[in-house]
This record gives sequence, structure tokens and C-alpha cells, in this order.
Amino acid sequence: MSSDSQPENTPRPSRTEAEQAVRTLLRWAGDNPAREGLHDTPSRVVRAYEEFFEGYNTNPHTLLERTFSEVEGYDEIVLLRDIRFESHCEHHLAPIIGRAHVAYLPKKRVVGISKLARVVDAYARRLQIQERLTAQIANTINDVLEPQGVAVIIESAHECMTTRGVHRPGVSMVTSTMLGVFRENTNTRQELLAMLNRPSASGV
Ligand SMILES: [Zn+2]
Repeated sequence: MSSDSQPENTPRPSRTEAEQAVRTLLRWAGDNPAREGLHDTPSRVVRAYEEFFEGYNTNPHTLLERTFSEVEGYDEIVLLRDIRFESHCEHHLAPIIGRAHVAYLPKKRVVGISKLARVVDAYARRLQIQERLTAQIANTINDVLEPQGVAVIIESAHECMTTRGVHRPGVSMVTSTMLGVFRENTNTRQELLAMLNRPSASGV
């Protein structure tokens, strides 16, 4: 699919090999994988990895392929706000927990809003850096829907910063990718920022 996927000639390790690797890390941590409490840990970790990284099994482009072209002349911003996601940093395999705000200004096609959230998940459930995650979501929507513009803003906490290294809890990182009218037109961008600052209808 892309450079995110494994090279084709590298076979995926077996489940047994993956569990063995977890046992090695348990020993590296200083514990004994044979003790009772850790007995099922390797198989649990391997199953957790299937969940954390299931994005590699999803093609984000195909998620957006079913679009609705009857939009009755709707030509205002569509914004899906506060999409909670979980990802993992590719440098430490530590969780990145955050929220994405995804907006686009349709040209002729709109898509079901749940699909936008699924695109976020498809890229979040991979090894990531936040800058690339932000750009990948925006570029995919831009490529498939061909809207007048796309904006993706992500704010998140990186556990590799809060629980190790510099130990800075409470710090959040904000990244954004603006394409088309959101990049070129100040008024459109301001309108988006005003929508983002409005209290939410759901009261959260
Ligand atoms: Zn990290």
C-alpha cells in the first residue's frame, strides 16, 4: 500500500515468535517471564498489538469512497470536532492520546461523518509521529473527496514525554495541516477557528 506497510519480501513473524519477543523484553525489564503473574502476558501483549496497530489492515482511501453527491448546494464548512484517538509514537512505542478536529469545505461530494472518524483511526492505529498523522488524514480526505479545502488540527499528549525522558505531564502538542481554501483564504480559516471555539452542542 505505502511505505508504512512491511516490505513484501519480509514475512510477518509468527504469533509464537512475537510472544517470544515479549518474553525477551520482560527479561530485559528485569523480571521472570516464567512466574505465574506473567504467564499469559506475552499472548495478551500480542493481542493488544493487534488492536493498537489494526490500522495497517485498513486502506483509508477506500473508507471514503462511498460519497454522497446530492448536497443541495451545501457549500459551508463541515467540521467533526473532538474525535478522540489513541496512537503510538514510533520512537518509544508509547501511547499518544489525543483529539482530532477534521474539517472540509465540500465542492461536490460529502461523506458520512463516521467515515472521517474511521480515517483518523486507520492512521492513528499505526506507529506514528503526530506531524505525519495530521498530514496523512488531511491528504487522504483531499485526494478522495477533492473538496475546496481540508483542515486537520490535532492536540495530544505523548506518554513518552510524560512518563519518561523529560517527564512533563500536562503538556499537549498541537499540529495542523491546512489545504486549499483553509490555507489560502484567511476568512475561511477564521470561520473554522470560530467554529472550533464555540461551546459544543453535546455539552462536553
Ligand atoms: Zn516517543
